[in-house]
Amino acid sequence: MRHEYSNQELLDNVAAEVRICTKCPLWKGRKKAVPGVGSPESQVLFIGEAPGRSEDIEGEPFAGAAGKFLDQLLSEIGFSRKNVFITNVVKCRPPENRDPLPDEVKTCTPYLNRQIIIMQPKFIVTLGNHSTSYIFQKAQLSFQGITLARGETHEITLLGMKIAVFATFHPAAALYNAKYGDQLTADFQQVGKELLKKGIAPV
Ligand code: URA
Ligand code: SF4
Repeated sequence: MRHEYSNQELLDNVAAEVRICTKCPLWKGRKKAVPGVGSPESQVLFIGEAPGRSEDIEGEPFAGAAGKFLDQLLSEIGFSRKNVFITNVVKCRPPENRDPLPDEVKTCTPYLNRQIIIMQPKFIVTLGNHSTSYIFQKAQLSFQGITLARGETHEITLLGMKIAVFATFHPAAALYNAKYGDQLTADFQQVGKELLKKGIAPV
């Protein structure tokens, strides 16, 4: 056993702290904080941006229209939200779904970092600009926008761990422009192949 406590217990501790967190001003506007969902034993981690309206009500990431599309993308490669882990850079909804502010990202990401350290994922899929920018910066990789970063696997060192990172668009982008949907579908097919190659299966 690597831990005295199970991943489930350790992730539950993070989630419990997130649910009552008041470290940045976003707590004031939230209904529910959104720590994350999925299998604590998953070797693959999906990271979005921040909760939106549905997520704030449900307390679960990707609970709205973008989430339906994410569920579809996952099912097309043989996974589901129950057998991967899905979370966001920032755990509470920004007002009017505005972008998270740098200070909010800085204050909140210790929770994400703890989740990553607990899970020790082999593969991270970043969904959109915010999570890609955060992970690339943290890994000291240059980031020049999602359009350049997406569509390939980057082997990085993150928090002292060797992890493969694959960046793609945010699933919500597909709701505004079908071309992003096609790109996401193609990117997820590639993720599916990479996971297969690395022997990473649903857990
Ligand atoms: N968009 C995100 O980035 N995360 C969610 O959980 C929902 C929508
Ligand atoms: Fe705490 Fe993060 Fe919510 Fe801010 S966004 S209150 S840091 S959990």
